[in-house]
Parts: sequence; structure tokens; C-alpha cells
Amino acid sequence: MQFTKVLNEIHKEAFIIDAHNDLAFDILRQRNFGKRKVLENDYYEELRDAGVNLLVSSLFIDPVFLPSMALQRALSQIYALIEDVEESMGKFVIVKDYNEIMEARFNNQIAILISFEGMMPIYEDLGLLRIFRELGVRLAGLTWARRNFLADGANYVDKIEGVSGGLTEFGVKAVKKCQSLGMVIDLSHINDEGFADVLRFTNGPFIASHSNARGIVDTKRNLSDEQIRAIAARKGVIGINAMDFLLIGQSHSNPIESIADHIDYIVNLVGIDYVGLGLDLNSKLMKYNTVFENENTKVAHKDVVGDYRELKKLTKILLKRKYDKSDICKIYGGNFLRVFKEVLK
Ligand SMILES: [Zn+2]
Repeated sequence: MQFTKVLNEIHKEAFIIDAHNDLAFDILRQRNFGKRKVLENDYYEELRDAGVNLLVSSLFIDPVFLPSMALQRALSQIYALIEDVEESMGKFVIVKDYNEIMEARFNNQIAILISFEGMMPIYEDLGLLRIFRELGVRLAGLTWARRNFLADGANYVDKIEGVSGGLTEFGVKAVKKCQSLGMVIDLSHINDEGFADVLRFTNGPFIASHSNARGIVDTKRNLSDEQIRAIAARKGVIGINAMDFLLIGQSHSNPIESIADHIDYIVNLVGIDYVGLGLDLNSKLMKYNTVFENENTKVAHKDVVGDYRELKKLTKILLKRKYDKSDICKIYGGNFLRVFKEVLK
């Protein structure tokens, strides 16, 4: 009884943030097929039931559009978000800074914060970076799992290619510009050389919005202990990714336990203040894939969390593992909120 009471309190009182969702990609695709009110029809109920307060929507550019269509696709995704938010009759709001995040909470609205997932849409133009900042893009994921004008991404699968490297000359300029514009640098997907360079050329907090611990699942897409310590030393946050192939080390009867495994790992290494959620839920996106696309996806994957309501199962697991209410509130959003308060002025 006491247990259920605490669980319900957490989902009511915690400011819950998912730091990575390819929301704009999904909304644009559905709207291009003629659908409307995607947020209201496909997202609202589960987010409300789980008590989610803020989603970070990435601007994910499908590689078939690179490089020449990157700018157009990013702008179309922002346009689709704006239109769909308008149709939600106040249930959702796009937020551009910390004050607007707090206002959304006050107004009982679900906030959407926009993020680059790879900065291909700015090509090699810092002026475009400034324009995206004006449009409300406040998180800067430098790369996806491939090379771009700024840096190299860590591949998911082995590819035949030359030696990879760190930040390019433009990449160094761009991260400095991001910092001066008050954008949160996001190092999920970057390779190890690029990660080390960002440490050299920046100061202040940065995040890995949707990455896990390499100590549990050994892939370059996850973070080494040294990188986790570096993020904590800068007072940043690591968002745990719920995709099975980045997450599951030891198998459990309930795979959601694996999310708690990564939380435990990071908490044991650096403490409770540096871990969050960046669930990267893909099932909604894959729903609209063609059969051909699904059969030919190079990395087969599925989400360990079916929809946001399943976060309550994670809460149960964390309570059983002796995290208390204030710990869970930090993990579910308090830690990311601390970074947003500091950077998104
Ligand atoms: Zn990603």
C-alpha cells in the first residue's frame, strides 16, 4: 500500500524528462501521409498517464537526404512540430528556454524541446547555427552514427572506411559557438576522439542524451567509465537508452531491469546526480516502416519499454533496489533540469 502510494506520488510530482525521442521525424512522416493531430492521437494519453513533463524532440535526418537536403528536412520537421502542437489545443507546447519549461509545468502542458541529432543541417555555416538557435533548437547533438562536417560518429556496425578522427576545424568553431549561444552540447553518438576533443575545447556541463554504460554493453556507441566520469565532473547528465542492443547485458525475466542495471552502474561510479532517461523509443517510428525497410535494417532492435506508461514498472524496480523518492525524481528529470536551468537561460 505504502509502495503504491510512493509510486503514484513520484509520477505526479517528479518532473519527468525523456531526453531523446525522434518525435519530429515521426510527426513529419505521418503528416506527409495526410494525418493530423499526431501528438494528440498517438502520444498524449500515454505521456499524461506516465506523468511525463518534457520530451526532447531530435531532428533526425534520414541518411538518404544527406547532404544536400539536410537543411530542408530539419526545417520541415520543425514546421511539422509547430503545426501539430497548434492542433493539440494547448496540451503540448514548444519551449525554448528554462523559464518556458517552468511555465509549461505551471500550465499543465507537455513541453517539447528541440535538439539536433547530428548537425548536418547547418552544413559548414555558423550563421545557420544561429538561425536554428532562434527557432528554439537548444540542444546540439554533434553527430549521428556517421561522419559529418563537425566530427565522426561511432558506428553501430563495422564498416570499411579509413581512420576516424576528432573534431574538425569547423567542429571546434561550432562547439564554441554552441556554448556562446547557450546550447547544451550532446555527445551521444560521437566517437571517442571527438568526445575527448569536446572536453578540450569547451567548459561547463554537457550531456549524453541517450547512451548507456560500456561497462555493461561493450559497444563504441556506449560510454566508457572514463567518459562517464568526465560528464559527472562537468556536472552533466547521461540519459539511459531503452534500445535492447545498447542495454541488455545480463538477461532478466523482465528486460526493464536492464535500465536499472545501467542506472546502478552509473550511480555506483559517479553518484546519483548524473543519470537520467533518454529512452529513444522506436516502436512508433517502425510502425510506419515498409516491410522492405524492416527486413533490411542493418541493426535489428526493439524497445525495452513498450510505451511511456511502462515507466511505472521501472519505478517499482528502482524502489525495490532501494532508491528513494528524491533519488528517483533526480533520475527521472531533476538532473537534466539542473543542466537546462544552467545552460538554457
Ligand atoms: Zn540516436
